[in-house]
Amino acid sequence: MQTMLPLNEAQQLLLSKTKKIPSKQVDLLTGIGMILAEDIAIRDALPHFRRSAMDGYAVRSIDTIGKEKVSLRIIEELPAGKVAINQVETGTCIMLMTGAPLPEGSDAVIKREEVEILDDSAIIPGNIPTGQNVDPIGCDLNVGDRLLQGTVVGPGEAAVLASQGYAQIAVHVRPRIAIITTGDELLDINASLEPGKIRSSNGYMLYAAIKESGGDPHIYPVLTDDFAATKSILIKAGMENDLVLSTGGVSMGNYDFVRKALLEIADESLFWKVQIKPGMPTVGIVRNGTIFLGLSGKPNGSLLNYYLLACPVIAKLSGKRNHLFPKILAKNENNLPGNSTGRNIYYWAKASYSGEWRVALSEGGQLQSLMGYNALIEIPTGSKPLQKNDNVNIILLKDGNY
Ligand code: AMP
Ligand code: MG
Repeated sequence: MQTMLPLNEAQQLLLSKTKKIPSKQVDLLTGIGMILAEDIAIRDALPHFRRSAMDGYAVRSIDTIGKEKVSLRIIEELPAGKVAINQVETGTCIMLMTGAPLPEGSDAVIKREEVEILDDSAIIPGNIPTGQNVDPIGCDLNVGDRLLQGTVVGPGEAAVLASQGYAQIAVHVRPRIAIITTGDELLDINASLEPGKIRSSNGYMLYAAIKESGGDPHIYPVLTDDFAATKSILIKAGMENDLVLSTGGVSMGNYDFVRKALLEIADESLFWKVQIKPGMPTVGIVRNGTIFLGLSGKPNGSLLNYYLLACPVIAKLSGKRNHLFPKILAKNENNLPGNSTGRNIYYWAKASYSGEWRVALSEGGQLQSLMGYNALIEIPTGSKPLQKNDNVNIILLKDGNY
């Protein structure tokens, strides 16, 4: 059994054991927020005709060149969605609306606001260049462009797919993820507090985290510290899910049965302990090709384990292209102690950008510091103390196409 691993080794090991889950055809609305499972070709240019960009008059540029003003007879009125019956010939123009196809013979549009009407003629300014206010074929989308597999179907992608008539798309099925929380001290959300007991919060925390990551979370009833029950629920969850997450019971306590149960059911154990703080005691195993992560029980350690270890697995299971969060350099707002623990220390933090990235600690106790974070500050072991305005590495958790 491997014991303590550096974080990057644990991540690479997990990714090497993670399979993509199969794809399925879904209708476009169902596929929103999911990950494209195949490249999608742009097959129709948009627009596929020369299109007026304005409400105005379609003219022949040549009729206007070298003149201060010109009077053109209006021979037709053309709404969007219709094709002109007439051609624009010398001395004539066609009134048309934004989105209408340019009539034959015309090559420019003059805005309605710039035109005076006299009887059935439009008096328009001279020297209108060819192409003015005309959207050329393919100016919005070109045939040959592609949407790449691994892309999240967001607003822009949905618009592109709809414009191309892709009513059905192939997406990766959302990975089904078990959440198992353990501990004799844990109460249900509806329970009144009792001496020595707390309400279980990890299940709700991870449910929210999994939703944010695009997974399909399933919470199992809170388990007491009972070896046999823990083992059988873990086995059951492994058969029902693509990834199993548990919290608690992986440390050195007399009642920490989760680690023992995980090791007993493992086909392969990947690690126990990762060189991070908080959340060092965390277990990774594989059984029947499914990864199980026994996360730390403490909420902030548990959520850190989730972001650093479970998220890469979920990203790969989901078919995403990027498996790790982006790491960037930011200016630090706080004084931070050095680190000689032999582990990377992570702080929950609030990062923002205005000309440069700045990052401030999300302060307070375990749950308090989990309010409003969007990043982690990473202090590698061996770091010296940091002053305000020093550069520091941050992991951006809630930004970008992750
Ligand atoms: P453990 O790893 O089981 O020893 O738990 C470590 C700490 O995390 C203890 O203080 C537990 O009460 C707390 N803890 C464990 N599971 C949960 C949970 N589901 N919700 C809130 N706190 C928890
Ligand atoms: Mg416990």
